[in-house]
Amino acid sequence: MLFIFYSAFFNKKNMTTDKPLLGKNALVFGVANKWSIAWAIAKAWHKAGARLVIGYQGERLKKSVEELLAELPGEDTPLAFPCDVTDEEQVSQFFAKTKAHFPKIHVLLHSIAFAPKEALEKNFYETSRQDFLRTFETSVYSLIALAREAKALFSEGGSILTLSYYGSEKVIPNYKIMGPAKAALESTVRYLAYELGKDGIRVNALSPGPINTLAARGISGFTKFLKESALKSPLGRNTETTDVASAALFLATDESRAITGQTLYIDCGYSIMGF
Ligand code: NAD
Repeated sequence: MLFIFYSAFFNKKNMTTDKPLLGKNALVFGVANKWSIAWAIAKAWHKAGARLVIGYQGERLKKSVEELLAELPGEDTPLAFPCDVTDEEQVSQFFAKTKAHFPKIHVLLHSIAFAPKEALEKNFYETSRQDFLRTFETSVYSLIALAREAKALFSEGGSILTLSYYGSEKVIPNYKIMGPAKAALESTVRYLAYELGKDGIRVNALSPGPINTLAARGISGFTKFLKESALKSPLGRNTETTDVASAALFLATDESRAITGQTLYIDCGYSIMGF
């Protein structure tokens, strides 16, 4: 009898430890393909028991996102709806559709950035007003827009995560307009964390080292930078998407309940070095 009690207790305990997001609903924005950082995080959250809703940029990505979701184990394939974050109508439709399935959410990932090609090719001082506004609208304002729409669904509190990069603090020459955009994003995290804290909503940024993804390949000299970054990092290697996913899992769960408004480096230590 005692054995049955212990076995039931430990099975339950293991279940909650293995699946810290069981019963939680998570919104994920920024899956483009299997290399996306958002996809690694979505897989980790799904494995931890979360039910996912994916917001993808547009029809062009629908098929690849649906193929990825079909690979996930389990019987319930997660939901996926289009959500171009620069289109207010699509954003509100995304949340209306989500709400019809899940009246509550607990976690939200914003893993979105964009800068026009010309802005990444020209000198930084030649950035046009239009390119500046487009970069900031997609990469920074979108976090405010998603947080605002999501606020009412976070009725039990929760965790919002975004993705930043070291170019927010230091000059990474070819990163150009994305540097000021990431600085504004990190500041946005702090202001959102302040105002949403009273609703029990935490807001943090993860700042990974360079990872070979579609967005990163838009930065000229990226491959060379990837090699140098591994050589100069204390851990002697580059960051993997799974490293970012592990940190994202921690920040999504109650284990990180007192952490908000922070930018957490997941860069094998690169950012502590001065050369
Ligand atoms: P990725 O290309 O896989 O992801 C970028 C995502 O942004 C794509 O899913 C794309 O569809 C989405 N997006 C762009 N414009 C959008 C719009 N208007 N509406 C909706 N979605 C839109 O590349 P990634 O490297 O996984 O990038 C994810 C995040 O990680 C970005 O914020 C990026 O700046 C950040 N980051 C990347 C690295 C790296 O080296 N790869 C390092 C640090 C931070």
